[in-house]
Amino acid sequence: MAFEGLTERLQKTFRNLRGKGKVSESDLRSTMREIRLALLEADVNFTVVRNFVKKVQTRAKGADVLEGLNPAQQIVKIVDDELTKTMGKEATPLNKSEKIPTVIMMAGLQGAGKTTTAGKLALKLKNENKARPLLIAADVYRPAAVDQLVQVGQQVNVPVFQQGVDVDPVDIVKAGLDQAKKDKNDYVIIDTAGRLQIDQKLMDELKRIKALANPDEILLVVDAMTGQNAVSTAQGFNDDLDVSGVVLTKLDGDTRGGAALSIRAVTKKPIKFVGQGEKMTDLDVFHPDRMASRILGMGDLLTLIEKTQKNYDKKQTQKLTEKIQKNTFDFNDFLAQINKIQKMGPLKNLIKMIPGMANNPALKNANMNPKDMAHLKAVIYSMTKEERTNPDVLNPSRRKRIAKGSARPIHEVNRMIKQFNMMKNMMNKVSNGNMSGMSNMMNQ
Ligand code: GDP
Repeated sequence: MAFEGLTERLQKTFRNLRGKGKVSESDLRSTMREIRLALLEADVNFTVVRNFVKKVQTRAKGADVLEGLNPAQQIVKIVDDELTKTMGKEATPLNKSEKIPTVIMMAGLQGAGKTTTAGKLALKLKNENKARPLLIAADVYRPAAVDQLVQVGQQVNVPVFQQGVDVDPVDIVKAGLDQAKKDKNDYVIIDTAGRLQIDQKLMDELKRIKALANPDEILLVVDAMTGQNAVSTAQGFNDDLDVSGVVLTKLDGDTRGGAALSIRAVTKKPIKFVGQGEKMTDLDVFHPDRMASRILGMGDLLTLIEKTQKNYDKKQTQKLTEKIQKNTFDFNDFLAQINKIQKMGPLKNLIKMIPGMANNPALKNANMNPKDMAHLKAVIYSMTKEERTNPDVLNPSRRKRIAKGSARPIHEVNRMIKQFNMMKNMMNKVSNGNMSGMSNMMNQ
């Protein structure tokens, strides 16, 4: 099974933490040491390991305690998050051209799995995108490469364009592209030649094919079982060809996992697919989050952590919805929401946080800039406890005092309070099923 060594070591590390109500400095230090060794043993790139451990350590030290999770579980969650980020966060889809055909060029060393992957990809596009791909056989050096692609094409029932092995590969690609245009193929997949190692002649040929075909996607195929060699190969190809994505093959036989964990961080290029067997159906979209859970081998625990987090959010949302419905939403709630948004970073829009508002088209351009938020907070902080929980008491003299306390002009304080009241009313109406308040609010 893939990654078993790494999974086993990480699990052992976490077992040592389990049952501890509190994680001490020295526990954390030894956990980090274990994680570092586990990753190095898995053949993960040294710099990647160093950065990874640093990030986990910083986050573990400053971790917010999430209700319902013990410290060990929190650390598992952080490691899971960081593993995911190291591998690229989210699945990266294939590029697609506006015009047909979308041209995909495969590149990689001999034996990495280019020809097989070209066939697998054609099948995937056919099955999942209802595409009509054409495969082009441009590997004229490896004995029997053209025949192999023809066979693969037959297996997946996709046409293969070939002109034997005595024609310049660039001419083959040119003729193949003409054929694809004539036959209205929506995807073209070019199988190129490989070598046992990177050499200049190969790179020159690939560059010539790239210049001619202007591919939408250059997929570099690397063999996961070669570990750090796969990473340096990827780096070498990327330097010359500027690839758009990586396919990591033979993951089914990779017990260590070093390539999967290093390629993205080293090359800055996403792993788009993984090959997990010799059959034509054994090609999967690469999902960094699922891979991280697999590496940790803690599916159950991760689900628990996710659920705890969701429940926690759900409870908060429920409380907020109740307050909105009873029209008791106050400045404390408002402040809590602002803080939440600021913590979440890119989520700029306060109103979008409110249950039922997220996809409202009227709110699409309603952004809030960080400076405004800071001013808003200053104003709320200058209110007394009573004013925050009962905004109705905010008479002119109180407002004047608040303006002074927050160093904001009085008209701004007035405007904020007016907007708060409008928002409160609107939310109350919307959450009680009356949408008419909405347009009033948006027209102010
Ligand atoms: P190329 O020289 O890069 O075109 O490599 P091939 O496509 O000929 O593949 C070389 C060998 O690797 C073949 O025996 C394939 O069946 C095998 N192969 C390719 N991808 C995978 C994979 O994901 N898993 C396994 N187990 N074998 C694979």
